[in-house]
Amino acid sequence: MHKSNQSHHLYGFTDLKTLNERGPVVISHGKGIYVYDIHDKKYLDANSGLWNACAGFDHPGLVEVAQKQYSKFAGYHSLFGRLSEETLELSDKIIEVSPFKDGRVFLCNSGSEANDTMVKMLWMLHARKGNPQKRKIITRINGYHGVTLGAASMTGKPYNGEFQLPLDGFIHADCPHYWKFGNAGETEEEFSKRMANNLEELILKEGSDTIAGFVAEPVQGAGGVIPPSKNYFDLIQPILKKYEIPFVADEVICGFGRTGNLWGCDTYNIKPDIIISSKCLTAGFFPMGAVIVNKEFADEFTSVSEDAEEFPHGFTAGGHPVGCAIALKAIDVIINEGLLENVRSVSPYFHERLNEFNGYDHIGETRGIGLMAALEMVKDKKTKEPFEGHLNMGDKVANMSIDNGLICRPLGPAIVLCPQFIINKGQIDEMFDSLHSTLKQAFN
Ligand SMILES: *Cc1c(COP(=O)(O)O)cnc(C)c1O
Repeated sequence: MHKSNQSHHLYGFTDLKTLNERGPVVISHGKGIYVYDIHDKKYLDANSGLWNACAGFDHPGLVEVAQKQYSKFAGYHSLFGRLSEETLELSDKIIEVSPFKDGRVFLCNSGSEANDTMVKMLWMLHARKGNPQKRKIITRINGYHGVTLGAASMTGKPYNGEFQLPLDGFIHADCPHYWKFGNAGETEEEFSKRMANNLEELILKEGSDTIAGFVAEPVQGAGGVIPPSKNYFDLIQPILKKYEIPFVADEVICGFGRTGNLWGCDTYNIKPDIIISSKCLTAGFFPMGAVIVNKEFADEFTSVSEDAEEFPHGFTAGGHPVGCAIALKAIDVIINEGLLENVRSVSPYFHERLNEFNGYDHIGETRGIGLMAALEMVKDKKTKEPFEGHLNMGDKVANMSIDNGLICRPLGPAIVLCPQFIINKGQIDEMFDSLHSTLKQAFN
């Protein structure tokens, strides 16, 4: 019925060859950590939708808050000094639960918009402070920051070559993935030191006074769940300080509990100037992004905005009252309904079961933290050589898994698992048992 070519939908991030063969999976509804397609086939969604449905797909409290807010005030902007009370309340709540003692929040509709907004804030701030040349943005290979022009330029994935991106002035530093990029005989500590030295050299080569900011995910998410190598952030933060380069933590995936703390920055002792948030901020119930700035940045930025009369930027739907009411509830659910607690209590078991896959000939590495993990598929375990073909093996496994009732999207050679914060031990078993049978099938 729903064969792709007969629909007018234009698909993003979708392998069109597979789509043409198999047709889309049309999801009708969700219950807890499961989704159901229009033929009532049930799937355990081990990707929480797209990392965001942390409270499950039908949390009654979130649904109720949305319904109530639609009845009270169904939509408004947040510009020209007019905005809803829910918008103000959410901004205060986000600062209250952020690592910043004081600060401010800019609200938009996605992680990409939040990143583009952040870049414009840095550019405006530096220029107004007399440093118009301070415009370059350093991110990292395999970093994922979104798809709009700025965010795509920040993203360190080869597919952006399709658009002849990055734009000028977006620079990609090393990816701190020891298993993949460590030299023969190099210890993990030595590797991290090399990463830090390379970053300093890059800063000096580009000119430290030309760099507007450094942006990093605490754990690289869409790059394939890559936690930093040992001491990496301890080593690079003093370098950024030394050259007065603001540190932006892209917490779109890590933020609100994924790593077992409310912020990935807490997990890795990162002291950022700016935090980017989205995804779990509304538990996937509404599109929203946030740029969260610390007090020092907020004070300076407010002051230069006064000089300029305004910060000439804003989205029609940014700070939407329904989204804000949902986010307020989502934060409450994560913190006060035991979701963060549950991430902490089930993640040791999650990793225990993940480690079983190290026994496979075609799994080169398992890795992760909290409730995010990846299994890296290799053709040859010794040489770490990947399977041929860009998407082939990953797609094969993804499709077999879907047929077996488990949604776990491979990212290149890595199979990613990032279940909902409400998952229990029995469901973790169900997920890994299904993955075992899929991989046995796939590697035979
Ligand atoms: C998903 C993601 C984004 C982009 O968010 P969108 O809402 O898809 O625009 C940015 N940064 C990170 C770390 C992400 O995972």
